[in-house]
Amino acid sequence: MVAPEYNPEDAEVENPLRPKCLSDYIGQEKVKENLSIFIEAAKQRKESLDHVLLYGPPGLGKTTLAGIIANELGVNLRITSGPAIEKPGDLAAILTNLNPGDVLFIDEVHRLPRTVEEILYPAMEDYAIDIITGKGQMAASYHLPLPKFTLVGATTRAGQLSAPLRDRFGVVLRLELYSPQELAKIVERSAGILGIKIEADGALEIASRSRGTPRIANRMLKRVRDFAQMMTNGVITYESAKLGLDRMEVDEIGLDANDRRMLRTMIEYYNGGPVGLDTLAAAIGEEAITLEDVYEPYLMQIGFLARTPRGRVATKAAYLHLGITPPESDTDDNQQKLF
Ligand code: ADP
Repeated sequence: MVAPEYNPEDAEVENPLRPKCLSDYIGQEKVKENLSIFIEAAKQRKESLDHVLLYGPPGLGKTTLAGIIANELGVNLRITSGPAIEKPGDLAAILTNLNPGDVLFIDEVHRLPRTVEEILYPAMEDYAIDIITGKGQMAASYHLPLPKFTLVGATTRAGQLSAPLRDRFGVVLRLELYSPQELAKIVERSAGILGIKIEADGALEIASRSRGTPRIANRMLKRVRDFAQMMTNGVITYESAKLGLDRMEVDEIGLDANDRRMLRTMIEYYNGGPVGLDTLAAAIGEEAITLEDVYEPYLMQIGFLARTPRGRVATKAAYLHLGITPPESDTDDNQQKLF
């Protein structure tokens, strides 16, 4: 329920819920402000928008923003992802089919194969690609000019992008986790579109348990609707939201069984840390990358987990939330020293 990654079940709900223009996109004020200036300026100059890199945890609205950029520019959007483009020829086929000004969205752009990345550089910079066919004496090189396009790349981790690729994005924007108030607005907007009646404190209850992520908030809204139908005449109230979310084992601050297991493991097996990411991942049977992308951003935001050079540390707040007495105040001292 609280996995922020896309899951096919979300598709039927996500499409109608995606905001189509910047004014419908809630939160991320800084990102919106910058983008609207860049978009207007590009439109005035009748040029394509500079390439944009969006980074931040999954489910925060990167794909949605790519759609909005295309919509605001009045051009087509073409969506693909890093792992889906296996060979340079695949990318060449996509690029040569774009119309001038179009937006090409590449999700998980850090997972593009190296060989593909190499033809993307001249495509981004000079709007042309060089393709070599055949081998030895039969080899021939073709120089293909491309229409001017805008690449919107999305990644959960800007640090994993190769430096030459990162440098070719003129606009780099970081998406932040949303506040409960912003998420409540998103929940109310989605409820309106789906024809669900919801009270303000019901929306806020869903929002506060959605770990800062619109995708999770929309998913919870859908589930809570079922509880409301059975309990409160289809209206989502604070009570039906609370009951629904309790049943799904999402606690009042949005932690699910996995988050609690991770914190408990740190506290019970490693004295609260510091414990290395790989050790922790092995101990709870998850991949390190899942811990980093999915669990940690929210646990860090609410101050339950700290990253230190020697590993991860569970904070006093995490102990208290799990009902475990924190070690004498030396925890804080030790943690201070680690920084
Ligand atoms: P990402 O590409 O970052 O994983 P998406 O763009 O697919 O995330 O967003 C996930 C869902 O959250 C979409 O259905 C979208 O409707 C909703 N959403 C994301 N950001 C916002 C926002 N700022 N306002 C309203 N809805 C949003």
